[in-house]
Amino acid sequence: MRLVFLGPPGAGKGTIAAKAKLVYSIPHISTGDLFRANIKNGTELGRRVQAILAAGDLVPDEVTIDMVRERLKEEDALKGFILDGFPRTIAQADALGAMTDLDRVVNFVLDKEDIVKRLSGRRVCKSTGRTYHILYNPPKVEGIDDETGEALIQRDDDKEEAIRNRLEVYEASTAPLIAYYRDKGLLVDIDASKSPDEVLSSMVEALV
Ligand code: ADP
Ligand code: ADP
Repeated sequence: MRLVFLGPPGAGKGTIAAKAKLVYSIPHISTGDLFRANIKNGTELGRRVQAILAAGDLVPDEVTIDMVRERLKEEDALKGFILDGFPRTIAQADALGAMTDLDRVVNFVLDKEDIVKRLSGRRVCKSTGRTYHILYNPPKVEGIDDETGEALIQRDDDKEEAIRNRLEVYEASTAPLIAYYRDKGLLVDIDASKSPDEVLSSMVEALV
């Protein structure tokens, strides 16, 4: 299964991908996670993109496309993948189309009020990338990762000003991909407002 997860920041793409990868036995490839790993490891790519992520802007297409091209060549991606957060522009979608065919594009639909609630309450474990929400998916002990015991953090780009910018960037650059993939007959709309397990099962049903 070769899937793209499309939708605004905070719609729950990463949360559902972490479950769906077990259902389909395919890797979850998140470009945001790949960039954050590079930043954490202090690579040249990481140094280049750090300020861009903090502001909630998009990393240039060539840099992002090259990174995804390399990742899709890895052994585990040969049998399928969930691409989460890529493509985010028409140029990226065209480049992806030249790299591989897709089975479906899942469009996570959520209204703006819920998007802001989800982003502002998101907390993450920096070393594992595990995601929580202070109200909707709290850790067992407040502020602490359930498995590693590390302190949870709020991403710089989940603070108010960056959230506003990311929503504008989504509308301007990424939302046009909905029509792009609908025209190709690949798009599946999923109501992302339900609980994670309900979102997962409605997606699995829609993909049969
Ligand atoms: P979210 O899960 O909130 O949608 P991501 O983790 O997917 O956010 O992305 C975090 C940031 O990484 C983005 O705001 C952007 O700066 C960068 N990024 C991720 N994917 C892409 C992409 N496909 N093109 C350009 N920038 C990207
Ligand atoms: P995305 O990858 O689309 O940016 P995430 O999966 O990181 O979104 O989810 C954003 C926030 O919303 C996280 O704090 C997550 O715990 C929470 N969340 C995700 N899915 C749901 C859901 N179905 N209901 C309630 N909260 C959710």
